[in-house]
Amino acid sequence: MTSLSEKLLQVFEEPACGKNLAKADKERKQGCTKQLSPGAAAGGCAFDGAKIALQPITDVAHLVHGPIACEGHSWDNRHSLSSGATTYRTGFTTDISELDIVYGAEKRLYKAVKEIIEKYDPPAVFVYQTCVTALIGDDIEVVCKAASSKFGKPVIPVNAPGFAGVKNLGNKLGGEALLDYVIGTQTPPFTTPYDINIIGEFNLSGELWQVKPLLDAMGVRVLACISGDARYAEVAYSHHARATMMVCSKAMINVARKMEERYGIPFFEGSFYGIGDMSDSLRQIARLLVERGAPDDILARTERLIASEEARAWARIEPYKQRLRGRKVLLITGGVKSWSVVAALQEAGMEIVGTSVKKSTKEDKDRIKELMGDEAHMIEDMTPREMYKMLKEARADIMLSGGRSQFVALKAKMPWLDINQERHYAYAGYEGMVSLVHEIDKTLSNPVWDHVRARPPWDPPNTAA
Ligand code: SF4
Repeated sequence: MTSLSEKLLQVFEEPACGKNLAKADKERKQGCTKQLSPGAAAGGCAFDGAKIALQPITDVAHLVHGPIACEGHSWDNRHSLSSGATTYRTGFTTDISELDIVYGAEKRLYKAVKEIIEKYDPPAVFVYQTCVTALIGDDIEVVCKAASSKFGKPVIPVNAPGFAGVKNLGNKLGGEALLDYVIGTQTPPFTTPYDINIIGEFNLSGELWQVKPLLDAMGVRVLACISGDARYAEVAYSHHARATMMVCSKAMINVARKMEERYGIPFFEGSFYGIGDMSDSLRQIARLLVERGAPDDILARTERLIASEEARAWARIEPYKQRLRGRKVLLITGGVKSWSVVAALQEAGMEIVGTSVKKSTKEDKDRIKELMGDEAHMIEDMTPREMYKMLKEARADIMLSGGRSQFVALKAKMPWLDINQERHYAYAGYEGMVSLVHEIDKTLSNPVWDHVRARPPWDPPNTAA
């Protein structure tokens, strides 16, 4: 059994993470957690990150061992959709009390697992450690092992208490739980030379479903998506895939890298956002499958699909050009890679006045430079005050960002569109880019902006000469 501190060291040493490798030994051991400034929002904890990463496995019961507030904090805040089972959307928690803190809550956890299995009979129960239960010394690994052998079902400990670090670290610890207890434990009913895994895609607002029809048209089967719209069995037999695509974020790079090491499944990092990047990802999937022995007619099939899908997407973006030409966009995003959408916005005739590069790698910055010509539009770290000023002075017509910055735009009475993980619309694939342009058009032309900017009737016009 690996202790939490050993697991943390393993994750910090991740050899596939370029950012990590660029650090000195001492720095690497501290992980990526930054010292917070007093008053600044801290973002999610490690438990939150693990829950975000694993909750999209839809037929599993996700049991949070801790105070009810931890579950309340993390429950279903990302619109990760399911095409079938809905067990993942039920909030299960041991809801520990003061007495449990004094006497320990392991028995309570065991009883909760028993009750869930009796009432819901899920294929597995995932048990999440939290700060309080870790601090009182509850050993969830031991309880899960006992429950698993008693009830004959996988009971998976996810040891990522909040104090271990930030959300991104929690994503990786969630992945470690899959590597330790789930992946490699089942066999698929059949395999094909076209089986792939997609890692780090969470089917937010149904984005996986914008990509799956394209893969179907190529003849590619998604053996497992980790973890969007996944079933427990799919994750358990995902080690039989021929190739892996790791989607954008490096949230679960440890899973992709270790699956390559253990099972020889090669992986590449790709993006489903932006027309050009979507095409590149399809090409890379086809190429990797051919390298692993799939018949090479998939290459021509993929090129034909790309040509027709790209032409269709650009034709659908065309009618928006007249309305959007010259409109200025401020792009502040961490979740969706900025360069992925820059090309589509430019093609729709919009001007990007600034794009955040706070979470970007050197390659990301090079891509942005290629698309936008110089570094002038790259924003390292923009304060809300600067965002407000930019919008107020109409140097931008619309802001695309995450929910946390929305009030800055609304205060400046300027249009805003949610483009981060809490978004309600799906923006993946060719279909998603057309939706994005459509949503920007709708937001910009919403009549509400004229109303909020108009002088209220009780406010007399300024007659002073
Ligand atoms: S920081 Fe600890 S107490 Fe707070 S939500 Fe995360 S696990 Fe729960």
